Amino acid sequence: MRDPDCIFCKIVAGELPASIVDEDERTISFMDIAPATRGHALVIPREHYPDLLSIDSEDLGAVGLAAQRLATRIKDSLGADGVNLLNSCGAVAFQTVFHFHMHVIPRYEGDSLRLPWVPTQGDSAEIAAAAQELTKR
Ligand code: AMP
Ligand code: ZN
Repeated sequence: MRDPDCIFCKIVAGELPASIVDEDERTISFMDIAPATRGHALVIPREHYPDLLSIDSEDLGAVGLAAQRLATRIKDSLGADGVNLLNSCGAVAFQTVFHFHMHVIPRYEGDSLRLPWVPTQGDSAEIAAAAQELTKR
């Protein structure tokens, strides 16, 4: 179902311009207007789902396959050395457009992109406690 206020639904409908680089029955991929690195693209389902928690499983699978296709092309055609796939779910996780999307971000040796995460040594008891909470029913 389409959301009339959603900019990505407007891209799907052809009402907003986008530089489309891949399409299939369930997904569209287009260039991000504010690229983190050269070739940064977004994969979206044609259907409107606000986020990771609401997307239909077949559409999520199709997004994953489209992201893999793009990652292959990014390496083969743009000469990237690696790729980050990134999804933000919720405003606290930096989501700004509430139509599910997967970022496909080419990575180049020595590029200046720094993801907002500085790994520090974890507390093993706290990791185990979180794991227990995650697995209890
Ligand atoms: P997020 O912060 O994960 O919700 O990512 C939203 C992304 O959509 C950002 O990287 C924006 O640069 C990108 N974006 C927003 N509007 C457009 C648009 N009209 N065409 C392409 N990319 C867009
Ligand atoms: Zn939408």
